[in-house]
Amino acid sequence: MSNVFSIDVEDWYHIFNIPSAPKREDWDKVPSIVEYNFLKLLDILDSQSSKSTCFFLGYVGKRFPRIVIEANRRGHEVASHGFYHQPVNQMSPKEFYEDLVNSKKLLEDISGSVVLGFRAPSFTVTNENPWFFEVLADAGYKYDSSVFPAFRFSLGGMKKGNLAPYEIILQNGIIIEFPITVAKFLGLRFCFTGGGYLRLFPYPLIKFFKKKVENENRPLVFYIHPREIDPMHPRLKANFIKKFMSYYNIKSTEEKIVNLTRETKFGTFRDLLINYLQKNGR
Ligand SMILES: [Zn+2]
Repeated sequence: MSNVFSIDVEDWYHIFNIPSAPKREDWDKVPSIVEYNFLKLLDILDSQSSKSTCFFLGYVGKRFPRIVIEANRRGHEVASHGFYHQPVNQMSPKEFYEDLVNSKKLLEDISGSVVLGFRAPSFTVTNENPWFFEVLADAGYKYDSSVFPAFRFSLGGMKKGNLAPYEIILQNGIIIEFPITVAKFLGLRFCFTGGGYLRLFPYPLIKFFKKKVENENRPLVFYIHPREIDPMHPRLKANFIKKFMSYYNIKSTEEKIVNLTRETKFGTFRDLLINYLQKNGR
């Protein structure tokens, strides 16, 4: 099993660069939509006997521990998306370390499973934070899926990053990186596997890019947020561009995911990690 359908488990207001988003001290008072939509995504995957890697915000796990337990019970992988959804390139190495350790411990205590993987909020491993992988290994993580190897309209991204999984050898161990999948076409890199790209592109175009990646023998790494299958969820007040990037075409996303999961079998990063380590004699 070499393809991963990952879920960044966060709420409707965890979007960057929108000033109207509620402040962290008010989050507990804000109505949530994460449980219902997350379980709906698990149902879609379960109906096709696929598994997901679920990158939980520590905050979401603390507020709704039952969805962490439920994901684990159904055989999906529990991983970390940080505690409070802070961009890593705006943290010090020490703050990042604490965030990694705290979210890992909380999710392990709730699920009873070891947390091996991390995804940075808004893919904020960049050239500004070369210490990223060293700190990740120090905090006991084994893999990462935060490299977005193409141009980004938002925070984060490494536009010249490797396209295929690779290993990073560090003082305190090895981190295996599973970059977000992008397709090469006409000399450019196109993301089609999540966020605004998955919502914007018509399904035949997604299939076209998917085929190109499969022909290169690279794994497919998709990513979704629970809010992206809920056309009725509350919206943040934002300018036109940000609204377009955050909310365009939500109504068709669930159907795309249903089609994708019917056509493609998905496993977890944990499976992919084991395969990678065995194949490379690690
Ligand atoms: Zn996020």
